[in-house]
Amino acid sequence: MSSEPTANHKTYAIIPDTQMGMVSIDSLEKISRVARKHNIPLIKITSAQRLAFCGFHQDSSEKIWQDMGLDTVPKKPAGVHYVQACPGIKWCKYGCQDSLALGARIKDTFMDISLPAKTKIGVSGCSMNCCESYVRDVGVFGKKTGWTVIFGGNGGGLPRIGDIIAEGLTDDQALEHIERCLGYYKENARKRERTARFMERTPLETFKESLGF
Ligand code: SF4
Repeated sequence: MSSEPTANHKTYAIIPDTQMGMVSIDSLEKISRVARKHNIPLIKITSAQRLAFCGFHQDSSEKIWQDMGLDTVPKKPAGVHYVQACPGIKWCKYGCQDSLALGARIKDTFMDISLPAKTKIGVSGCSMNCCESYVRDVGVFGKKTGWTVIFGGNGGGLPRIGDIIAEGLTDDQALEHIERCLGYYKENARKRERTARFMERTPLETFKESLGF
C-alpha cells in the first residue's frame, strides 16, 4: 500500500493492495462508498493488479485510509514491490498449475524482506505467461510437468528476458529456488541494482552453482 503524489504534484494517489488483483463484492462496495464520499475523480486498475485512487489533495489522505479501514503504512525499504498472478488452473482453461495459490505463498514468504532494489514477481499458470514472467525480476510459470523459475527479467526502459533457473518444480521447490535466488542477489548486488543489471554482470553458471541445487 502506498500514498504518492501524482504527475501534476498537486494531487495524490492512494494505492491499496489487493490479493493479486482479487477483490470481493464487499471490498468493491466499500471502495465505491469511499470514492463517492471523497469525490475521487479516478480509480485506476494498475499494471500491478492494484487499485489506485487518484486526484485528491494530500489533506484527505489520512481520512481516506481510515474510511477504507486501513492503516497508513510507513514507506517500506526496497524489496518486493508486488506479486502478480493470473487466474491459473482453477479459473482458466489453459492453466496447468495453480498460480493464485503459489502467488499467495510467494507473497506471504517474501513480501516483507529487504532487497537491494525494487523487485517485481509474476506468476503465470501456463506457458502463455499472461503475467509476463520472463520480464519480471522473479518469474514463474506452470507446465504440466511443474513450475519453471526465471530470474533477472525486466520490462522497463532497458528490457531484459530473464534466465531460466530451473524447470519441472513442485510448489515447495519453486519457493526454495526463489528464496536462494533472492538470497544470492541480496548478498552480491549493489545498492539499488535491479536483478536484470545484476544478472548481466553475473555468469549464469556461477549464479546457478551458487544456489547449490
Ligand atoms: S498464463 Fe495461462 S493460465 Fe494464466 S491466464 Fe494466461 S492463459 Fe490462463
